[in-house]
Parts: sequence; structure tokens; C-alpha cells
Amino acid sequence: MDILSTDASHAALKQGFLARDRELLIDGRWVRAQSGKTFDVTDPGTGAVLARAALGEAADIDRAVQAARAAMARGPWAEMAGAARGALLLRLADLLEKHAAEISVLESLDAGNPVGSVRHVDVTMAINNLRNIAGWSDKIAGEVPMTPALAGGMAYVVREPVGVVGAITPWNAPFLMAVHKLAPALAMGCAVVLKPAELAPLSALRLGELILEAGFPPGAVNIVTGFGSGAGQALAEHPDVNKITFTGSTRVGRSILAAAGGNMKRVTLELGGKSPVIVMPDADLPRAAKAIAAESMFKSGQYCAAGTRLFVHASMHDKLVDAIGEIFGQARLGHGLDPATQMGPLISETQLGRVMTYITEAQGAGAQMVLGGKRLERDGHFVQPTLLTNVGPAMRVFRDEIFGPVLSVIRFEDAADFDGIAAGANDTEYGLAAKIWTRDLAAAHGLARRIQAGTITINGGGPGGRLPFGGFKQSGIGREGAREGMLSFTEVKSISIGF
Ligand code: NAP
Ligand code: MG
Repeated sequence: MDILSTDASHAALKQGFLARDRELLIDGRWVRAQSGKTFDVTDPGTGAVLARAALGEAADIDRAVQAARAAMARGPWAEMAGAARGALLLRLADLLEKHAAEISVLESLDAGNPVGSVRHVDVTMAINNLRNIAGWSDKIAGEVPMTPALAGGMAYVVREPVGVVGAITPWNAPFLMAVHKLAPALAMGCAVVLKPAELAPLSALRLGELILEAGFPPGAVNIVTGFGSGAGQALAEHPDVNKITFTGSTRVGRSILAAAGGNMKRVTLELGGKSPVIVMPDADLPRAAKAIAAESMFKSGQYCAAGTRLFVHASMHDKLVDAIGEIFGQARLGHGLDPATQMGPLISETQLGRVMTYITEAQGAGAQMVLGGKRLERDGHFVQPTLLTNVGPAMRVFRDEIFGPVLSVIRFEDAADFDGIAAGANDTEYGLAAKIWTRDLAAAHGLARRIQAGTITINGGGPGGRLPFGGFKQSGIGREGAREGMLSFTEVKSISIGF
């Protein structure tokens, strides 16, 4: 993104959006929390307070859920045809495009990611997704099973909106996650209560303003900012919510699952990962090194599908480590709004502390630090991209999701042993993604079929379109995106009638 539009957007935000306390969106209106409480929203690149947001709690969640329920029961949202919902989503996509620079600056300030990356990855994907999903709004249909022509009666299957949806999102890609959750729910005719992450709630609130401007009727979308233990828990437990769609940690995912059991809510959980990267001896080394390094630094490593366990064939080990080390060494760390920045800060001091503990502990356990590992002496929560070799599969750095720019390398010897390589890759509680680098078709397909993960990317991946996304094992339940994602916001009803 160019400097001029960044500066102009920043100035406009300071005078407008950031100058006022941000409120909750309930039933088409912006309102204060019932308690009147607020919380500070900060810039992780400086530690400074950016704005104050309403601290929504159980009472506010309840108001929002009732508004959503009413919107589904009667009035314009309940009566709206699928094509008209699609048209609203397309209008929203146009508004995101119009305000893309400003949204990118706001998101960069709040979550720390480089503004150009936010614009070209997050905001672009959000716009493309909205347009893709808008097309599904009038294309999901039921079925009429074949019956003998002279049978006395008929049977059919209809799909209905699943009901009121509670959406709970994390801070690492807050804008994209909010759009990911809202769009398919709205396309299928559900009404939504969104609880954004407390650490980066601002872009979702700006999205709420654009949702009203696009013309969504009151109650279709409600946004309640607040803490997980208050607003989030209340939403997960609420008896009038039919489905929770959640993206976040496996730990909180478990508590959502337990809370959802109260009224048997449907759940989609997109959770953590510890994704393997496998580099075979015939891989295109410069391409692989560039992609692996870039992914390690993407969102400062706070990226659920990041390849963080690097399995490399012994013949490539030293060359690949050198190539990645060179890219890490040259990376420019800085504030998200600085156009030269390639990697921003971590989200919080707590997150930085966690990452530093893993790095120190790994060295104590015998891992070798090739590069990085230090916190930067400046305001904000910055840590260098860190490359560790000699990592063993039992070390915590190799097992836990760290959510920081830390890449652990392990070598393997036998490139023909697909079972052995896959066993290493599968030796984790997670199963979100895996990446394979090889030019050998048998290795590519042989490994892809053996690895337990929801998304497998070979040689950096192809154009693909919007594919279903989600995890095996403890990386989640269900899939978002594409047809699977749409169907997860519907309920099936079988109707049979005798004449
Ligand atoms: P988190 O701590 O699990 O929080 C996620 C959301 O849940 C936040 O809005 C949080 O509110 C809320 N929450 C916390 N406790 C809750 C409770 N008891 N009941 C209901 N809601 C509650 O995750 P995070 O630290 O924000 O994000 C990092 C995690 O997200 C990583 O594990 C990462 O892998 C995962 N992630 C997964 C994907 C994916 O698609 N699979 C994508 C991105 C991130 P507060 O903000 O107030 O705590
Ligand atoms: Mg923030």
C-alpha cells in the first residue's frame, strides 16, 4: 500500500473512528454496554492506547441474542429471499473495496501486522470471499428422492437456516475472521452475534458500520465486544443460540464444546495447529526456502496454519537452513504502518513472554539456535525470527503451538520411506495443515494421502479457489468455506406426505 493513502487513512481514523468510544452493535443501533464499562484497545507496535471499546457482558449478549432471534422470526431478514441476501453481501464487498485502505490501517494498528500485507492478503481475501459466498445465497437446495411415478405420496428434504449463530473470533486475523464467519451464516439466512477478540476488536466494529451502510436489516448482525470469560462464555452457553462458530485455541475450543452441550448447539471449531513442512531431496530449494521463511514471519508467526515443524532430508539440511537463515537475518522488523516493515510485533507482552520461554527452554533441552531468539530493545512486543536446529520430537518447542516466529528443524534420512516420514509429521495432537516440497509425483501424492491434516499444500499450492478449511484431530471440528462451510449453517428437515 502506498505511503500517502496510509498516512491519509491514519489521520482520518484519528479524527473519526478512533476519537470516539466504540459501542456495541445491537438490533441495528450502536449502544453502550449495559454496565457502562469500557476497556482499552492498544497498539501492539507501541503499547499505546488506540481507543476504548464497550465491555459487553452476559446482559449485552442476551440483548444481542434476542435481537437476532427476533430478526429470524419476523420482518425483513426473515422474509428475504436468498438472492436478495446475496445482493447485500455483494454491496458489502463493494464497501470493503471502497474503504480498503482505511480498514487495513485500522487493522494494522490494532493487531500489528504490516499494512501492505493486511491490504493484499486479509482485506483482499475478505472481499473475494464475500463475493464468492454471495453466490451461494440462492444455490443451496433440498432434494426430492426418486419415487415410483404412481406412488401415492411424496417425500422431500429441505434445508433451513440453522438459526441464531454465535461467532467468536481470535486476534491474529481479526477482520478476515469476522468476514469468514459472518458471510456464510448470512448467506444461509441466519442472524449472527459476533464476539471479536478483546486484543484486536476494532476492524470488526468498522465492519459493523459498513454492514449497516450496506442495508442489512436490524438484528441480522450484532457485535458485542468484551472478554472471553464474560461475553464469549455467555454466548457459548446461551440457550437461544443454535450454533457456535469459533476460531481460536484448542483449550478454549474445548470449553466452547462443553458449554454448547447445554442446549446441543451445533459447533464448528477452527483451532490450533503445529503443521509439518516436508522438504524432499529433489525440492526446488530456493523456492522452498523463501516460502518457508515468509510463512514463519507471516503475522509474526501468529498464524494457525503456519508450517512450524520443518522435516528436511539430510542432503538438503544445511543448504536449506542457510537459505532460511539468510532471509530471517535480513528481515525488517518494525511498526505495521512503516512501509518498510516485513514483520510486525507480537500481539501482547504475554504472548512475547510465552514465545521467549519456548526459545530458552528449547536451548536448555539441546536445540541449537542458528539465528534470532532475541527481543528487540524498543517499545512494542517485538521478537526476532528464530531458527532452531537439532530439535527432538519430544521437545515442547516441537510439540506445542507457539504462535510466534519460531521454526524448528529436524532431519530425516530415508526419502523412500513415506510411512516413516508421514509418521513423524503425524506425531502431533494437531492436524490443521501440512506442506510438502517435492517434484516427484509419487512422493507428493504418497505423502499427501498419509498425512492427517485438513489442508495439504504441495510446492506452495495452486490457484484453487475457495477450498474447505479446517482440521483433523485436535485442530477442530467441521469445515469452513465452499459447500461444506455453507451446509454447516443449515439444518436438514425430511418431509414425507401420503396422498
Ligand atoms: P483464544 O484465546 O482461544 O481466543 C479466541 C476467542 O475466544 C477470543 O475472542 C476470546 O476472547 C474468546 N474466548 C476466550 N475464552 C473464552 C471462553 N471461555 N468462552 C468463549 N469464548 C472465549 O485464541 P486467541 O489467543 O485469540 O487466538 C490464537 C489461537 O487461535 C491459536 O491457537 C490459533 O491457532 C487459533 N487460530 C486458529 C485458526 C484456524 O482457522 N484454525 C485461525 C486463527 C487462529 P478474548 O479475546 O477476550 O480472550
Ligand atoms: Mg490491539
